[in-house]
Amino acid sequence: MTGKKRRAVYFDRDGTINTDVGYLSSPDELEIIGGAERSIKKLNDSGVLVIVISNQSGVGRGYFAKDAVEAVNERLKSLLEAEGARLDGVYYCAHSPDEECGCRKPKTGLADRAAREHGIDNSSSYVVGDKASDMGLADKIGARGVLVLTGNGAKELGKLSGRPDFVAKDIAGAVEWIMEDLQEGQG
Ligand SMILES: [Mg+2]
Ligand SMILES: [Zn+2]
Repeated sequence: MTGKKRRAVYFDRDGTINTDVGYLSSPDELEIIGGAERSIKKLNDSGVLVIVISNQSGVGRGYFAKDAVEAVNERLKSLLEAEGARLDGVYYCAHSPDEECGCRKPKTGLADRAAREHGIDNSSSYVVGDKASDMGLADKIGARGVLVLTGNGAKELGKLSGRPDFVAKDIAGAVEWIMEDLQEGQG
């Protein structure tokens, strides 16, 4: 492969970028967590790719169809775009845990695919999420993991086997730390 590989921040969706209402299936229920737009825009401006990786087992469990997930994702993109923030990719796993797929976090299927499709070096990338499965993904791909205390974050903190690279109050705090970490790495 020619050319330099890029870095990405892989964001979880529910509980990290938007409020986790539990099996969110309607765009009308989508509520972005304060500061997310501005934080994602900062990453866009810095040249780091912003990718969403989300477990949407509500599909596999029969609670809603893929169309519902995609409608929410489209709404998320357009709300962010209205504030000048861009998602470079959105990937989701629609399987239930019983299906034992290769893409449900902490499995790496979606991050591997994103890396191939966008030329990302996962080992110099970041994962931001509110669950142990997000931190598990970070571990498996060799990325730095940031746990946010929004969503399930505070509850999940006790379930972690190791310490995340950083624990942030919310997505804004996570991105602030990542921006500093990036600058230290490049300086
Ligand atoms: Mg989540
Ligand atoms: Zn899957």
